[in-house]
Amino acid sequence: MNIHEYQGKEILRSYGVAVPNGKVAFTVEEAVEAAKSLESDVTVVKAQIHAGGRGKAGGVKLAKSLDDVQAYAEELIGKTLVTHQTGAEGQEIKRLLIEEGCDIQKEFYVGVVIDRATSQVVLMGSEEGGTEIEEVAEKTPEKIFKEYVDPTVGLQGFQARRMAFNINIPAAQLSKAVAFMMGLYKAFVEKDCSIAEINPLIVTGDGEIMALDAKLNFDSNALYRQKDLLEYRDLSEEDPKEIEASKYDLSYISLDGNIGCMVNGAGLAMATMDIIKHYHGDPANFLDVGGGATAEKVTEAFKIILSDKNVEGILVNIFGGIMRCDIIAEGVIEATKQVGLTLPLVVRLEGTNVELGKELLKKSGLNITAADSMSDAAQKIVSLVQQ
Ligand code: ADP
Ligand code: MG
Repeated sequence: MNIHEYQGKEILRSYGVAVPNGKVAFTVEEAVEAAKSLESDVTVVKAQIHAGGRGKAGGVKLAKSLDDVQAYAEELIGKTLVTHQTGAEGQEIKRLLIEEGCDIQKEFYVGVVIDRATSQVVLMGSEEGGTEIEEVAEKTPEKIFKEYVDPTVGLQGFQARRMAFNINIPAAQLSKAVAFMMGLYKAFVEKDCSIAEINPLIVTGDGEIMALDAKLNFDSNALYRQKDLLEYRDLSEEDPKEIEASKYDLSYISLDGNIGCMVNGAGLAMATMDIIKHYHGDPANFLDVGGGATAEKVTEAFKIILSDKNVEGILVNIFGGIMRCDIIAEGVIEATKQVGLTLPLVVRLEGTNVELGKELLKKSGLNITAADSMSDAAQKIVSLVQQ
């Protein structure tokens, strides 16, 4: 789960990580009110969307007066911001963070992430803050430092100090930087984060260390024990199709191809996407209907797949193990009738009662193409959507 910058900063503040004063605003009036109360010479108006790269895309504005704040707020609220992380369709700005402007001496990068190769939490840091860290990692990997954390003892003071030295934090700010990193690590662990990234961490003109940006992501599998975090969830930033799918216990991830997939089992779903690609097709989604592929679930899954405008055909690939193929076939027929499906539909069934299932599909009189194997199914749907 992802949250907004201002929410991330709120959490970090409670862990003693220094952040600038700021307030969220949903309207232009709130933005001006917030700016008034900050009493800062320079006020920063920051678009709050679940994506980075806002600065470069014009989503972070420095305002020198309340009139400026008003003008920038008017410009940004309701605007669709396209950054290198949003995709071409961009993301509508519905909230702003009104923050005091900081006197930036130098920008650094500090992040706590999980290194999947070593299965360890790692503190990463770089002197090259404020820019895209992925680019730094690619072009000048020697400028990125890492401290792997032993989970039994947690991040140690000496590691945070070594990091501060490595990334050239000025000597006068060393102890503040160490406290900052320790706080960041603590927040990461206690809140079950998958990422806690500060880019940039800054040293200010008056010698403070601060998080100027905050990106916190949480492990969705841990949300059951992080109930407070659910308050921060902003559904308007999430894909409505994915939200709808979660209501029916369907695992759905939308992709940008044109072949809708309905599969049972995550492994089979991955294999199905692979084989579509193999035959030069493009899956529109990953969809695992789970173990109990009931008529209701299949219908909802069809509706979700069809709400994606890019879908030009559907491939159903179901393995009837516990669930019998004839029951699945009935579900597919029922769903096809209910949603009035007009797009090409290829169904591949395998497993218990497969012959009976195929028979039902054939007798239904609906325009369903039966397939005998995965590669047969993939080739059929790829050629059907190309017509
Ligand atoms: P993003 O990573 O989405 O571009 P950031 O929050 O990192 O957004 O902001 C981009 C840049 O804007 C920062 O690197 C910094 O130079 C400037 N900036 C952001 N917030 C402030 C602030 N409160 N005061 C001064 N400059 C800021
Ligand atoms: Mg940033």
